Amino acid sequence: MDSSVAIQPHIAVCPSAGIGHLTPFLRLASMLSPPPSTTNNSCNITLTLTLIIIRPTLSSAEENQINTFLSTHPHINSSHFQILPVDNNNSSNSKKQDPFVVHYDAVFRSSYLLANHLSTLSPQPSVVFSDLMLASGITKPLADLGIPNYTLISTSASFFTLMVTSASLRTTSGDSDSDSDGDEIPGLGPIPMDDIPPFLMSEPDNNMLTRIIDTNCRHLHETKGVLLNSFDFFEPESVSTLQSGKLLATLPPIFPIGPFISVGSLKGSNNISWLDNQPPKSVVFISFGSRTAMAKDQIRELGKGIERSGISFLWVIKTTVVDKEDKEELNDLLGEAFFMNTKERGLIVKEWVNQEVILAHSAIGGFLSHCGWNSVMEAAQRGVPLLAWPLHGDQRVNARVVEKAGLGVWERSWGWIGERLVKSEEIALKIQEMMTSEKLKKSAARVGEEATKAWEIDGSSKKMFGKIIDNICQK
Ligand code: UDP
Ligand code: UDP
Repeated sequence: MDSSVAIQPHIAVCPSAGIGHLTPFLRLASMLSPPPSTTNNSCNITLTLTLIIIRPTLSSAEENQINTFLSTHPHINSSHFQILPVDNNNSSNSKKQDPFVVHYDAVFRSSYLLANHLSTLSPQPSVVFSDLMLASGITKPLADLGIPNYTLISTSASFFTLMVTSASLRTTSGDSDSDSDGDEIPGLGPIPMDDIPPFLMSEPDNNMLTRIIDTNCRHLHETKGVLLNSFDFFEPESVSTLQSGKLLATLPPIFPIGPFISVGSLKGSNNISWLDNQPPKSVVFISFGSRTAMAKDQIRELGKGIERSGISFLWVIKTTVVDKEDKEELNDLLGEAFFMNTKERGLIVKEWVNQEVILAHSAIGGFLSHCGWNSVMEAAQRGVPLLAWPLHGDQRVNARVVEKAGLGVWERSWGWIGERLVKSEEIALKIQEMMTSEKLKKSAARVGEEATKAWEIDGSSKKMFGKIIDNICQK
């Protein structure tokens, strides 16, 4: 870098709503401006960073994450951005809308106010990192103000590929014959219709989430670049196709900089001491993320499956979609016999746990996961074998990535959430397969090694991150 043209940047980091979107932004903020005691700062200059906090938050989990983050990063500023009222009646169909999607909609509708909010910060930001949900409102005004804007994608490179091609896919999907393996999508290969979330094939006029994704993707060409929480080894075809410009000539430069680095030290913060007494790699960790609740009959069947598998387990159970309502009594749900039969080898928690700390624990031998992208990257980073049980949205495409990269196994016939009751026998068999397969252990460990390499000197993600730092440190 030529120091004579270096400037002192003021970075604004603008997440959207929900833990799945907040988490990568907190990590990015910490990567750009780590606490002074840590050494992973690639930018050897002083910078100011302001975290934009969307008000109101959706869940108390977000509130807690933000408070913890700001207390461990006292040098980072924060600024509250009040969004327009959440409209629970704004549904194009009669189905009750997902509380996360109506919140995304409020963020999306408020995005045009954000550029003005940012311009009132003192000093005015010299660069902005923002969520895809905000793109339509801020890319043009920021470009007019001459402020470079990068968009961070919170899902896989593969699902991002699908999002940017979905408009053309909707017009051609009727042409493919029903027996085929699916439409060939550059960077993804042939993708069966079953793996594409139904909302993405709906017309934007008829579906709120499709409208939000579609509108925002159309503004990406106005940004300086797209940041992906992924790495070359993990999604080689999608990443290289996106970077080649062959998929969509209007896409800006693509920067795969994953797996994102943890926000704090993971040492000494294990909140589950029970794990310390378990043999190495003996425990399966079970969690379906921050926003997905299975139906009660499926939760009971999962309980029976875990019991049947004979494997030790740590299960983070969630019975409602948004954390604030979670009052279900576990004894009523799973029955006392379950607790009697598994008390020697299992632990169930309802509270928020530090998932990264758990995945890093030597007792964990596998992860039964819904394949939310943050969870996938956290497992990839540590080479933890995964049993994919995708339920919604991007998760089947993410599960394809997991399977192809050798990080995990996936039983496709389990379907989308609620499609059918997955029986305890099937669950037990798959848990056993994941926990005992030597082949899977090896290939998952390889993913972990490659994830580490991506951030070593000359690693693919480290180099890409260096380019971003150079861009923001120079005018
Ligand atoms: N998470 C956690 N503790 C919990 C539940 C979730 O630390 O009890 C974290 C998890 O590690 C991940 C994020 O919350 O970083 C969930 O994001 P993901 O994309 O995996 O799934 P989503 O919740 O968006 O479906
Ligand atoms: N969804 C999710 N994670 C995502 C994207 C979507 O959990 O990353 C949820 C979304 O909120 C909605 C469901 O997945 O509830 C979409 O389901 P479906 O594909 O059946 O679409 P719908 O018919 O509900 O529009």
